[in-house]
Formats: sequence, C-alpha cells, structure tokens
Amino acid sequence: MAFENLTSRIQTAMKTMSGKGKVSEADLDETLREIRLALLEADVNLKTARNFIKQLREKALGAKVLEGLNPSEQVIKIVNDQLTEMMGEKAVPLNKSTKIPTVIMMAGLQGAGKTTTVAKLANKLKSESNARPLLIAADVYRPAAIEQLKVLGQQLSIPVFDEGTDNDPRKIVQDGLAQADENKNDYVFIDTAGRLQIDEVLMQELKDIEKIAHPDEILLTVDAMTGQNATETAQGFNDALGITGVVLTKLDGDTRGGAALSIREVTGKPIKFVGEGEKVTDLDVFYPDRMASRILGMGDVLSLIEKTQKDFDEKQAADQLQKMQENTFDFEDFLEQLKQVQNMGSMDNIMKMIPGMANNPALANASIGEKDFAHMAAIVYSMTKAERRDPELLSPARRRRIAAGSGRPVIDVNRLIKQFKQMRDMMFKFANGKGLPKGMSDMFS
Ligand code: GDP
Repeated sequence: MAFENLTSRIQTAMKTMSGKGKVSEADLDETLREIRLALLEADVNLKTARNFIKQLREKALGAKVLEGLNPSEQVIKIVNDQLTEMMGEKAVPLNKSTKIPTVIMMAGLQGAGKTTTVAKLANKLKSESNARPLLIAADVYRPAAIEQLKVLGQQLSIPVFDEGTDNDPRKIVQDGLAQADENKNDYVFIDTAGRLQIDEVLMQELKDIEKIAHPDEILLTVDAMTGQNATETAQGFNDALGITGVVLTKLDGDTRGGAALSIREVTGKPIKFVGEGEKVTDLDVFYPDRMASRILGMGDVLSLIEKTQKDFDEKQAADQLQKMQENTFDFEDFLEQLKQVQNMGSMDNIMKMIPGMANNPALANASIGEKDFAHMAAIVYSMTKAERRDPELLSPARRRRIAAGSGRPVIDVNRLIKQFKQMRDMMFKFANGKGLPKGMSDMFS
C-alpha cells in the first residue's frame, strides 16, 4: 500500500518527542530531521521537503509547543495541518461549464491510466448525477486505445465517438464535439494521445486540440508509481499546456506516495481525483485532509487531539499539569476534569478514539451525564477543605457524614473516592513522563 513506509517513518520520528512532559528545541529539530528524511525517501521533491520542514518548524515554535502540554501531540497536529495544506486544504471539484457540454480534455503519458480514468470519471458522473457523457477517442497513435475506450463505453453504456486511426485527432475532436451538440450530451471527455515522454509534437497536438475544444478542464493523469518523475511530468505538462487539475493513478500500488505530496506545491494545480485500482469504480475524490491522516496513520487520534485542544483551556491545563506533577491534584481539580470531559461530549465516543483506552479502569465507568455530575459535585462539596486535598483522611465515619450531607448513598461516595485515586495515579504517571496513556503510547511504539 502507498505511504506505508512514510507512515512508519513519521511515527518513528515522533517517538523522539512522545512521552516527554517537556521537550527541547534539539528534540524538535531531531524529529524534523527524521521527518525530512522520511519525505525524501517517499520521493517527495527536495524543494517541497525543505519548505515543508521550514514551515513546520516555524509553526511549532510559533505555537510555543515546547512550552505547552503534550508537545508530541501538538507536533502531530501541526504535521497533519501542514500536510493537508501542502496538498491543497480542500477537495476541488471538476470544473463545470454554465452551458452544455462541459468539455474535459485528458492528457498524460502513455500508460499513466488516461483511458481508464476517462471511463471511471464518466461512469462516476453518470451514476452520481445522471450525466450523459460522450467519450471522444482521439488517441490515434495507439490503435488499442480506441478499442479499449469502445469496450469500456459498451460495458458502461456510455457512447464513444471515434473515426478510427486514419483521421487527424484535431478533426476527430471537431466532429466529436459536433455530435455531442447534436445529441445534447452534457459532458464530453477527450481521450488524447500519450507518449513515453513529453515531446514537442505531442504538446503541439494538445495545444491545437485545446484551441478547438476550449475545454473547461484539462485533467492530467499521472502515475503515482513513477515517483519523482510523476511530479516532473506534471510540471512539464503544466508549463507547456496549462493544466487545470490532476488525477493521480495507481495509488493502490506499491508506490511511495511522494507525488501526492509534491504535485500541488510544484504546479500550483490541485489533485482532483485518485485512482486506486483497475476497476471502473476505483476512483475517489482527493481529500487532502483525509490523505494527511492516512499518511500519519492516525485519523481518529487526530480528531481527538483537535477536540481536546478546542475544549481545554490552556492555562487551566498547565495549572493542572503542575498539580499532577507535584501530586497535589485534589477533589476540586478532579471535579474540574470531569466537567471538561462532560463538555467534550459522550465519553464513549472519546474512548473509541483511543485504542486500548476503553479498558482503562480509571475511566471505565466515567460516562457522565448532567445528573451524575451534579451528584459528584454534591459529594465533593460536602467534604471539608482538608478532605478534598487528601483522600486518606476519608475514614468510614467521614464518608457516612459526607453521604448524609450530599444526599447520596455511601456506596456512591466510595466509588467517587476510588475513581479519584485511580485518575490521580494515572495522571501522576502521565505528567511525570511515564508515557502517554496506554493506547496512545502504542501508536508510537
Ligand atoms: P493510458 O495509456 O494513459 O491510456 O493508460 P491506460 O488507461 O491504458 O492504463 C494503463 C494501465 O494502468 C492499465 O493496465 C490500467 O488498468 C492500469 N491502471 C489505470 N489506473 C489504475 C489505477 O488507479 N490502479 C491500478 N492498479 N492500475 C491502473
């Protein structure tokens, strides 16, 4: 699978920082150096990798991650944001003309997957929005290409316009467009010729076709398996022809995936779709954020980190960290923690995001509704100040007094004290650099 190496290399790089309450600038630089190597190994273009690391460092230092809580988690989030940004932030849809037909001209080197992609895209439009596409077979240099397109068209019940291999491709495109007008097709795909590499004659032909067809979209198919060449090809076509988007094919193969990361940065043009198999349905919209999570191999954990960051007040969190480190975390802090967890929504959902965390005894029964929270608060507020600070004072007699004062049964008081102790122990370990909670630490081991 694509990105496997990159994923494991980045995770290894993050290990330098994980489990540390505090990290130094040298730790950060070591991590960044490893990430840079990982990118280069994945065939990311040198300039792109250098820019990536430079921006990452600025963001990490700017966000003061070294001074905050859980620096390694924050760096993961910054890496994720940076990967997303580099790949273009948002999915970019196909251009659409205000009048029919929308003309999509395909370009690409031979074997990149152009013909297959024409069929995949036309089929997607047909099945998702009842489009009525026409496919124009203008690759006259590879006779099999025309046959291939006709077979695919027949399978998908999509009409294919062809004039064999004797006519000039420019004429074929003209005639094909006339037929689309006549048949009121809403989309036209032009399957153009490829070459083994970019050459003048090919580029001239493509430019001529562009003048005739005025395409709304010039989609370049590039083969992700070709590594650095994929990015160079994209740059070459973009310089000569001015593409509007890219389809990155064969991401299902054993590719190192660097093209997905470099193309946008180098050409400024969006990857719009990715091909992930030979079947006609193996085409997906390219979502930069999902791809970034896939590269990091930790989609759910990322949403958790985001959620936690949004909901926790930084200063409050830092105060609590200090208390945890000094083991002066008391019942009022515990109540505050429960409140935060309650604000974050269903405990079950949060648990599911951390593999292994669901079995943590300290949090096993910690699903907290409004009523539960009010009961817990009543118990804590029935304690004296000294008791809130030191659970060891809580003798059976005191527990009975607290139960009476809060209107809760003694069993509830006992349970709360037990949960408090478990949470305090866990946090003490966590805060003193004994590692992330189980599950999170698994991700980096
Ligand atoms: P063209 O010369 O650019 O028109 O390339 P083709 O469409 O003929 O594709 C070349 C080969 O790549 C064919 O065997 C396709 O089945 C295969 N191919 C195309 N896209 C993908 C993809 O996303 N994944 C995989 N595994 N194979 C693909």
